[in-house]
Amino acid sequence: MKKSMDSRKAQISKLVDTQPDPALRKIGEKILLKERIFFDEGVNLFEKAELSYVGALANYIRESLHGDKTYFNRNFHIEPTNVCVFSCAFCSYSRLYAHRDEGWELSIDEMMDMVKKYDGKPVTEVHIVGGVHPKMNLYFFVDLLKRIKAHRGGLHIKGFTAVELDYMFRKAKLSVEEGMKILHEAGLDSLPGGGAEIFDSEIRKQICEDKVDAEGWLNIHRNAHLMGMHSNATMLYGHIENYYHRVDHMDRLRALQDETGGFNTFIPLKFRNKGNDMSHISESSVIEDMKLYAVSRIYMDNFPHIKAYWPMLGRKSAQLTLSFGVNDLDGTIDDSTKIYSMAGSEEEHPTLTTTELVALIKQVKREPVERDTLYHELKNYKDMDLAKMASSPFYN
Ligand code: SF4
Repeated sequence: MKKSMDSRKAQISKLVDTQPDPALRKIGEKILLKERIFFDEGVNLFEKAELSYVGALANYIRESLHGDKTYFNRNFHIEPTNVCVFSCAFCSYSRLYAHRDEGWELSIDEMMDMVKKYDGKPVTEVHIVGGVHPKMNLYFFVDLLKRIKAHRGGLHIKGFTAVELDYMFRKAKLSVEEGMKILHEAGLDSLPGGGAEIFDSEIRKQICEDKVDAEGWLNIHRNAHLMGMHSNATMLYGHIENYYHRVDHMDRLRALQDETGGFNTFIPLKFRNKGNDMSHISESSVIEDMKLYAVSRIYMDNFPHIKAYWPMLGRKSAQLTLSFGVNDLDGTIDDSTKIYSMAGSEEEHPTLTTTELVALIKQVKREPVERDTLYHELKNYKDMDLAKMASSPFYN
């Protein structure tokens, strides 16, 4: 690690000692002692702390855990459909079944063609999420999983939000445990973190009333963890929620992580306001975004990784998050998701070559490390020459 943690600790101690607010000073002292902060302290950070203070504390934790290492993977997405039985107010992506002619519905063969497009390419993960289509049931996806595994057994399949799973299991009249076992045996390796939004029931009622509630979401992830699968967790922020709701959301995830230890990554997702029923709500500022990432890093003390999902945030802001607690930038994506481009993200065609992703990380003096889905390190690009990478088809 380039910077010595001792000198970093001395700098942070000084910052904490000179913090004029006693409650914020106490939080800083706890972080130096590696102690957990309480619920009210999380709210306090949002309400009272300067970005510079909370950012420095988060960066200290990030560097204590990972040094300068910044992870990414080589992946692509499959979005089987954007037809959905739900109509979440923030969603710019879905179309109701009655309007399915405006959306897309991929057949298994079409999805397999997408998988085959990557034959011989060094991707390690396919990420499968989409709308909740009333006719794409559990057994349709069992077939898809089996065919992907038969074609490319080593490709890690991370698939289906708890919202999709809840609908599939209920429709198949299976318990969560039974449904999860069937999918896992068919080839599902881990779960993405989507569909969590904000757990508070009052907020959920206003933004995504019909879909699985907080307990249901957490129970699906609990079952996956108990089966030995890993998963991620998201939080949709910057709409009608307040600081209490954010901390409540993180607190429930932190409690489940204490119980199972099955989460890899926490991924805050910024609300984008184009083309949805909440377009009248302004988007959060970059300052608010960075503060959210920083508080997440501090509060989620049992989550090993905090990820900035660059297709949603834009690559410049994603770079900035690397100084506010974030140590993962997701993947190369290869223009294979429409979820955030349809909601107004700067990234209309999200794709980065490995060279571009490595350059983005090196530009802010961090150390790019390619990982697989479960954070096994595959390659450290610290000493790789960008010009050489740019001329190799392996990285582009
Ligand atoms: S957010 Fe997901 S569940 Fe909600 S309408 Fe969009 S696709 Fe459907």
